[in-house]
Amino acid sequence: MSNRTFTMIKPDAVRNGHIGNILQMINAAGFRIIAMKYLKISKQQAEKFYEVHSERPFYGELTEFMSSGPIVAAILEKDNAVADFRTLIGATNPAQAEEGTIRKKYATSLGENAVHGSDSDENAAIEGNFFFSGLERF
Ligand code: GDP
Repeated sequence: MSNRTFTMIKPDAVRNGHIGNILQMINAAGFRIIAMKYLKISKQQAEKFYEVHSERPFYGELTEFMSSGPIVAAILEKDNAVADFRTLIGATNPAQAEEGTIRKKYATSLGENAVHGSDSDENAAIEGNFFFSGLERF
């Protein structure tokens, strides 16, 4: 069981004014913020971050979208963090997400789905290291 995961509030949710509401849901669900920053990534950085998806048909659209505006990146801590955060955010496609999940409330489409959540302990560590140094974690 892991105790850390990595998240991003994606450009659609930032543009739509949902940063505060999403952070509120994250805190209310019992996650502690270990690291956080507000930044815009380049297309090249998005391509590197999503390299595992490079063969998928939506890779171009995804990396274009993720570099289209600022995001909030964060490392979160809680018992069973990866699985519990995936439950909190809901299914990839908001049309299939459970009521009360972040994606059900704030995502607009399958591609523009408001938040990222790591899918494994290994990826949580890799993704957190992509954005944060040791000095930026508390
Ligand atoms: P996640 O783990 O729930 O984020 O889903 P995946 O790992 O399958 O996909 C990564 C991200 O790619 C998703 O969160 C979406 O933003 C995006 N994505 C997935 N499927 C599609 C698609 O069919 N079209 C587009 N444009 N984006 C997609």
